[in-house]
Amino acid sequence: MRRRWLFADQLGPHFLDEPGQPVLLVESKAVFRRRVFHRQKAHLVLSALRHRAREGNVRLVRAETYAQAISEPLSVCHPTSRAARGLVRRLPDVRMLPPRGFVTSPEDFAGWAHGRDHLRLEDFYRYARVRHDVLMDGAEPAGGRWNLDADNREPPPRGAGALDVPAPPEIAEDEIDERVRADLDRWEREDGITFAGRDGPRLFPATREEALARLRHFVAHRLPAFGPYEDAMLAGDPRMAHSMLSPAINLGLLDPLEVIESAERAYRTGPVPLACAEGFVRQILGWRDFIWHLYWHFEPEYRAVNELHARRELPRWFAELDAGAVRARCLSDVLAGVRDRGWVHHIPRLMVLGNYAMQRGWRPGAVADWFHRSFVDGYEWVMTANVVGMSQYADAGRMSTKPYAAGGAYINRMSDYCGGCRYDPRSRTGANACPYTAGYWSFLARHEQSFGDNHRMRRPLQGLRRLNDLDAVIEQEKARGSKAP
Ligand code: FAD
Ligand code: SF4
Repeated sequence: MRRRWLFADQLGPHFLDEPGQPVLLVESKAVFRRRVFHRQKAHLVLSALRHRAREGNVRLVRAETYAQAISEPLSVCHPTSRAARGLVRRLPDVRMLPPRGFVTSPEDFAGWAHGRDHLRLEDFYRYARVRHDVLMDGAEPAGGRWNLDADNREPPPRGAGALDVPAPPEIAEDEIDERVRADLDRWEREDGITFAGRDGPRLFPATREEALARLRHFVAHRLPAFGPYEDAMLAGDPRMAHSMLSPAINLGLLDPLEVIESAERAYRTGPVPLACAEGFVRQILGWRDFIWHLYWHFEPEYRAVNELHARRELPRWFAELDAGAVRARCLSDVLAGVRDRGWVHHIPRLMVLGNYAMQRGWRPGAVADWFHRSFVDGYEWVMTANVVGMSQYADAGRMSTKPYAAGGAYINRMSDYCGGCRYDPRSRTGANACPYTAGYWSFLARHEQSFGDNHRMRRPLQGLRRLNDLDAVIEQEKARGSKAP
């Protein structure tokens, strides 16, 4: 049996053909020279790799490049980026197997996508549920409905401060983490390698045992509250009832199918309401697999599409996670979360960070690069469709029906940020003007022509035409420029 070369995002047992198969792991410092990653992401990846190396029958090679580490016939599961796939193809005597770590296969996706003009998550998700018999009662969706989003869009409970759910079990760092921290300090000092964000205690699983403990805890204690508040934000509770499992799943420590199956089991046998199980399964079987396939389905140039002609570079305060420079309460808190944890949940990513960038016309490629390096769960495959397509609408609707643009009213409804903010979500001009509200109208005005044919944008554009102070809003936004709001 050939030795299995595991990339650092292929660490779980489902990447082997049988337990005990010989393994090659490569730790390459060059990866950290190519991009300025969040310090906690670098820590997590190295810690996971070194913990995995402690298991039986593993050879860990430290080398500047992957190619230098390869000296025997190997097999490897399809890697998760085009660059890594290209490398594998160039290496002699490395046999590449189909991808693992996702539920649906490339053939499944190709068959589903064939002949479709529009690729929409909802259609793919229904296909995948039938194909893999997830949350199905025979030929019908469990409970008779495919989509329970309407039950899962509650604003946060008013005055609560935090959801009443137990925190995930804490991670106990060990001597491997201690060594990783010392190495990273030394690389910064002696090798000129730099990192983004702040160091801190490791918050996410680096071993299969830690990941399974988090999964079991989530399903038993947090999943029952996941659904209704999955789109809500609370300043004092960044986790809400989210699973925080993305880093573990993306490192390959958990098989997404086992995560889905345990959520379905908890619905069938326990106290988890269908809306919570469905909302969660939709994230993994739906969104995660969909985004993965789109990375390969779209042409390599997709990463650089820029249909809205957004050309501004990221301002320094944003690029460097300088939350202290920002007075807008929502943006300051979310940027601080990225700086301190390398993780915030889906809605802050989409509606606070991505929305702000799109309103200001920042270059989508630069925004994608920023997300990639700033988040502990950031990987090349997950950036293109999520950031370039969904959050920046730079593909003019190849994967979503309208831009995710919103003003302060949305953030006010879905969070408790606005009450304590120096701005007023209802104001679009003057000293109290909310940057999201002013930015929203200014964005719509800039793209009025190109959104004119989109029926989902008809109402927002009608609203735009009713504004009697639009010129003042636009002037004010110009004056704000790239200054921190
Ligand atoms: P939960 O809310 O508990 O969801 C469960 C799981 O579903 C996640 O762990 C994740 O594995 C999966 N999932 C849900 N949505 C997506 C999605 N759109 N794409 C891929 N997986 C999804 N996810 C990443 O894994 N890495 C990223 O770098 C990343 N960047 C994002 C950037 C933007 C602009 C946006 C809008 C979304 C991004 N996402 C990314 C998707 C999503 O925000 C995160 O997966 C989620 O917030 C992780 O937290 P969680 O594990 O608590 O998720
Ligand atoms: Fe954010 Fe505007 Fe609300 Fe302030 S008023 S928290 S800037 S949405």
